[in-house]
Amino acid sequence: MNIPRTSFPRVVIIGGGFAGVALAKKLSKQEVQVVLLDKNNYHTFQPLLYQVSTGGLEPDSIAYPIRKILKDFPNFHFRLANVEEINTVENKVLTDIGELKFDYLVVASGAETNYFGNSEVEKNSMAMKTIPESLNLRSLILENFEEALLTSDLHERNALMNFVIVGGGPTGVELAGALAEIKKGILPKDYPDLDTRLAQIHIIQSSDCILKGMSAKASEKAEDFLEKLGVNVWKNVRVTNYDGKIVTTNTDLTFETATLVWAAGVKGATIKGLNAGDFIYRGDRLLVNEFNQVKGFKNIYAIGDIACMVTEEFPNGLPMMAQPAIQQGKQLGENMVRLIENKPLKPFEYHDKGAMATIGRNKAVVDLPKFKFQGVFAWYVWMFVHLFFLIGFRNRMVVFINWVYNYIRFDREARLIIRPFKKKLKS
Ligand SMILES: Cc1cc2nc3c(=O)[nH]c(=O)nc-3n(C[C@H](O)[C@H](O)[C@H](O)COP(=O)(O)OP(=O)(O)OC[C@H]3O[C@@H](n4cnc5c(N)ncnc54)[C@H](O)[C@@H]3O)c2cc1C
Repeated sequence: MNIPRTSFPRVVIIGGGFAGVALAKKLSKQEVQVVLLDKNNYHTFQPLLYQVSTGGLEPDSIAYPIRKILKDFPNFHFRLANVEEINTVENKVLTDIGELKFDYLVVASGAETNYFGNSEVEKNSMAMKTIPESLNLRSLILENFEEALLTSDLHERNALMNFVIVGGGPTGVELAGALAEIKKGILPKDYPDLDTRLAQIHIIQSSDCILKGMSAKASEKAEDFLEKLGVNVWKNVRVTNYDGKIVTTNTDLTFETATLVWAAGVKGATIKGLNAGDFIYRGDRLLVNEFNQVKGFKNIYAIGDIACMVTEEFPNGLPMMAQPAIQQGKQLGENMVRLIENKPLKPFEYHDKGAMATIGRNKAVVDLPKFKFQGVFAWYVWMFVHLFFLIGFRNRMVVFINWVYNYIRFDREARLIIRPFKKKLKS
């Protein structure tokens, strides 16, 4: 990999997401050599992926070059590499561009979509975990309407205009809200010769409420907002299969659709060598102690979504969200300095800053530790927080300008089929 050995200990970080970047920044001025490996050369701001899928934002405005984030730091190396295996005996990682020895390894590889073993759903549904996947979804949504215009078969036309989202978490709710706004504000203008009132948006949730991790009030209000926008919310319904045309469930309900978006679960993005054993915990996450050390290892750590840190309050592990990832990255950075200075490590403590979701224009729900509110003010708070955490001044400006423009014009101008997507290409 052409990375020189120096007298400093080498910390290899796998993943330039929220956790990996927070850690690398903390270590940037310390006497360590940091090597960050990522299969993409950019950091993705996943909370806004649904806006890329629905033409509200360009993909570039929610991505940021990893090299640029850390460009001013000495002892920092980035390599565009897919880590294929971790050799915990010889302390090295094996990648598609070669091998690399480490003194300390930090796995920050995040999560991937969990289809719970249903291969047919995996093959036929759309995921929204990466920028390419969001672009695929954007293309498919628009292609469906182009096709709906051409067909005279009513069944086919309805299926093309029906959207089924599985999973009533923030991703599913935000996507459903955005689709409902497109249906109301954009489709009638773009497709005047198509009866777009027939387009349907469904959310299917296996439990008895949406936004399960949030307060009862937030959940109720979000459902109310969605219903007002014309979204059909199906609770206590579990999807059992999707053959590319019909969604079957554990009830009598079936849905005919050309687009099933699977937002029903994630699991740890494990890597060979550290993907089996008693350190693999719920949802394929790596079981870590309070210092983020992977069970059984002194020099291997995991942070962010891939790490399962069990606490009294979170017996299934901390939530797979940006805040725990950022906080763990920062804390591990401080602990690594302590480690090198032979000082005792500090245990990680999660500071829950709350959760939020937007359902559409002027509609959001916010649960802060001390206050819970919904509606227009919540929507402003949601926008401010997302702008604040976006990486890069340009991205913040571009997103802000887009949002103001979209708000005033009731528009989403990134509804472009730049990279056509055909479902059959997936198989
Ligand atoms: C659609 C969506 C909406 C979300 N909305 C919210 C929200 O509103 N609020 C919130 O708090 N959280 C939200 N989340 C969750 C949040 O984005 C994650 O919790 C957060 O990104 C976790 O950070 P991380 O650093 O652990 O992983 P990621 O940010 O996923 O980063 C992992 C990195 O590792 C890289 N990588 C993975 N495997 C390898 C490998 N083998 N080799 C090399 N590189 C690899 C990936 O390319 C990626 O860059 C959302 C997630 C999604 C998908």
